[in-house]
This record gives sequence, structure tokens and C-alpha cells, in this order.
Amino acid sequence: MDFGFTEKQEKLRKSARDFFLNGIPEDFDPGAETMFSLTKAQTEFWMKFQKKAGQKGYLTPGWSKETGGLGLSPIEQGIVEEEWGYTGGRWPNFSGLHIAGPAVQIFGTEEQKKKFLPGIAKGTAVWNQAFTEPEAGSDEANQKVRAVLEGDYYILNGQKTFISTLTKPDYLYTLARTADTEPKHQGISLFLVPGDTPGITYQAQGTMGLGTQVNIYYQDVKVHQENLLGELNRGFYHAMAAFEFERSGTGNPATHKRFLVDFIQFCKKTRRDGKPLIKDPEVRKTLAKMAIDIEIQRLIAWEAVWRHSKRKELGSKPYDLSGFFNKLISTHHPEKMMNILGLYGQLRTGSKWAKFAGKIERRWQIARSVHPAGTLEVNKIVVAGRGLGLPRIPAKFNKVIAESLQEKKK
Ligand SMILES: Cc1cc2nc3c(=O)[nH]c(=O)nc-3n(C[C@H](O)[C@H](O)[C@H](O)COP(=O)(O)OP(=O)(O)OC[C@H]3O[C@@H](n4cnc5c(N)ncnc54)[C@H](O)[C@@H]3O)c2cc1C
Repeated sequence: MDFGFTEKQEKLRKSARDFFLNGIPEDFDPGAETMFSLTKAQTEFWMKFQKKAGQKGYLTPGWSKETGGLGLSPIEQGIVEEEWGYTGGRWPNFSGLHIAGPAVQIFGTEEQKKKFLPGIAKGTAVWNQAFTEPEAGSDEANQKVRAVLEGDYYILNGQKTFISTLTKPDYLYTLARTADTEPKHQGISLFLVPGDTPGITYQAQGTMGLGTQVNIYYQDVKVHQENLLGELNRGFYHAMAAFEFERSGTGNPATHKRFLVDFIQFCKKTRRDGKPLIKDPEVRKTLAKMAIDIEIQRLIAWEAVWRHSKRKELGSKPYDLSGFFNKLISTHHPEKMMNILGLYGQLRTGSKWAKFAGKIERRWQIARSVHPAGTLEVNKIVVAGRGLGLPRIPAKFNKVIAESLQEKKK
């Protein structure tokens, strides 16, 4: 088996790497910023840089030329994403590139593709995925936002919560209930909603993971029926299929690798008890284990990319461990780094004694947000069910558990 790339692909890799490294400011500190904790000036910079990358075709090299890409394959897309991931940067339009865009590619009409995809590919539009509601997170089927057809328009009412955004979005990729059905997930549809439609309000809320998510309120929001994505009442299934693209990606392991490489440099330069940290056998063992984790994640991510490249023959990937590994590494690696630094690892950013420029504190906080793209527990359920074929708890037992909890409350 040959895991290598062709000469042409390596050329693309180098040209993408040069483009990214030349464009990113020298003082950019990967791991210090998250997309959601940027100043206004930083936001403007990343928006501009996103457009530049879009002009080069480096946001969506795997998309067709008609939709704004370079007409290459998912493998080339994976190569460019890997290079971008290694810089530690994150595009402001993450949700458009990794979720809404692929969903429109698969389920959109020709008109929708022409209308929505070029803005994503060229980096001019920002999309948010607005799915989560106060009572619908892991249980996505419990959507309460309602869309009622009146003439040519659906009228949306209700609330979304914890929606990641950098700036007011140009579009929302959102779920709403269009029928009262049993089971619940058969009455949900997907909509593509211009972000400035009258009746939408955004309310920011800061989270501990150094982020800003928003509450989004829909009040009599008129959405033309042309903006229904895919089939009416099939939105839940469409959304689940598109999650495949959010959770996988070669960028994530590359970002973890970059952080580890920087940390190894730090361990080489930093002495404890008279010798460099890197000479400590326990430290070496921990670093090696971290490197192995990242390599496993990288192989899983590339397997998913390969699978995308064969989607027409093989269909969608039955289950994907990428997101699961991403969460494991995001939570466990900062903890291991903190242990290596001892108590100095717990000093606040800004303390003159803080080690590794205090970056561990920020990573640690960011890693508290294990919720985006489904929690670790929910990821495990997906792997158990779709990956290992383990049976689900029959619905009748769920009912029995729910009833016994009610009895306990009484
Ligand atoms: C930083 C951040 C960014 C986000 N960005 C977005 C976004 O852009 N768009 C969007 O739509 N949403 C976004 N979310 C919301 C996120 O998708 C949800 O928080 C997530 O799906 C979990 O849903 P919930 O918060 O309702 O938790 P719940 O579903 O209420 O879960 C609460 C806890 O119970 C556990 N749990 C739930 N069900 C089970 C089960 N069956 N078995 C075992 N354990 C279970 C969960 O793991 C969790 O620990 C974001 C959240 C955060 C924190």
C-alpha cells in the first residue's frame, strides 16, 4: 500500500503552504486565538485572507470549477486543508466550507448550487449552522422551531442557541419542524436563510471555551420556498449525511501536530533539574504517545477523504471516527502538556513565570468546549451503533426508564 502523493499533488502542497505562510502575520500564535475570540481587526484580517485564499481556489480546490473550485479531487482538497490546518488558522466561514457547502453540493438544486456555492468558494460569504435549540442538541430530532408554509413562503418562529459565529452571518443553514410526526425526525426540513432577513435577531453569549456563540431568534421570518434544501420533511436525514463532512477533515490532525511540534521545541529548550525536559524519559514517553495519537487521527482523516473521493461508488461513510479522535486529542493533550509543566502549567497567561507562553491555559479552556459537532458521549454512541453494530436500547426501555425517573421525582 502506498500512502504517498503524486508529484503534482506535492507541488500543490508546496504552493498552498507557501501561500498560507506568506499570508499569515509573523506574530500569529497558533492556539492563542480561536475563531470566536478575535478582535475586530483580527476578524477583518481573516475575512480578507479568506477572500485571497478563495481567489486562489484554496478554500475549495476539490469543488467543480462551475461552483468556484479548482475542479480537483477530494484528495487535493485534503492536501490543501492539511497545510492550512498546520498553520493553526481557522477560516471564518468554517460552517459554510465544511457543512453547508457540502450539503448544498449533495442536496441542492442546480439554481441553489449556482446561487450559494460560489460565495463560499470565493470566501466572500459567511455561513452559520443554526441547528441547536434549548431542547434539541444531542437529540436533534426534538426541533421546536417551526416553519409553516403560507403562499410561496415558509414562516419561521422559534429559537436556536449556542450557534458559533464570527460575525453576523450572510446565511443560516437551519433546521425547522415542518410536520408533527411520530417518529419526530420525519417531520423536519432544512432551509437556507439570508442572515439579514427581517425578524431574525442575534444575541451573543460568551463561553468558557474562549468563544462566542449566539442565540438566534426567529420571529415571523419569511423564507421563500426556493430556499428549502432537499426534500420536505427529509431534513434530518440530509443534515446527518452532511455531518460526515463537518467531523472529518485533514486539517484537525495537522493543527494538533503543529501544537505538539511547538511544544517539543519548548521541551528541548527548557531545563528542569539541570537537564532539558526532553531528556526526561517520562516526558519522552508522553510526547511519543501524543505523536502516535495524532498519526492515528491523520490516517483516519485520510481514510475519510479517500472514502469521499469514492462516494459515487461506495456511498456515504457508514461511520467516522475522525470527530471522536479529534475530541479525545483536544481534551487529553493539553492535560498531558500541563502535567509535563508541573505547577507552572497552571499559571495564568500573562504571569511572568507561566511556561510555554501561557498557551496551555488557553488550550485547556478551549478544550472544555467538547460540545461542537456532538459530545464525546454521543460520538461514542455513533461508533457503537454504526461502527460496531451494537444494538440500541429499545424505545420501550427508554420509556420504562423515563417513567421510573418520573416516579422518583414524585
Ligand atoms: C463552543 C460551541 C460551539 C457550538 N457551535 C454550534 C453551531 O455552530 N451550530 C449548532 O447548531 N450548534 C452548536 N453548538 C451546540 C452543540 O452542537 C450542542 O451543544 C451539542 O450538540 C450538545 O447538545 P446540548 O448542548 O443540547 O446537550 P445535551 O444534548 O442536553 O447533552 C447534555 C449532556 O448529556 C449527554 N448526553 C446526551 N444524550 C446522551 C445519551 N443518549 N447518552 C449519553 N449521554 C448523553 C451529552 O453528552 C452532554 O454531556 C455549539 C456548542 C458549543 C459549546
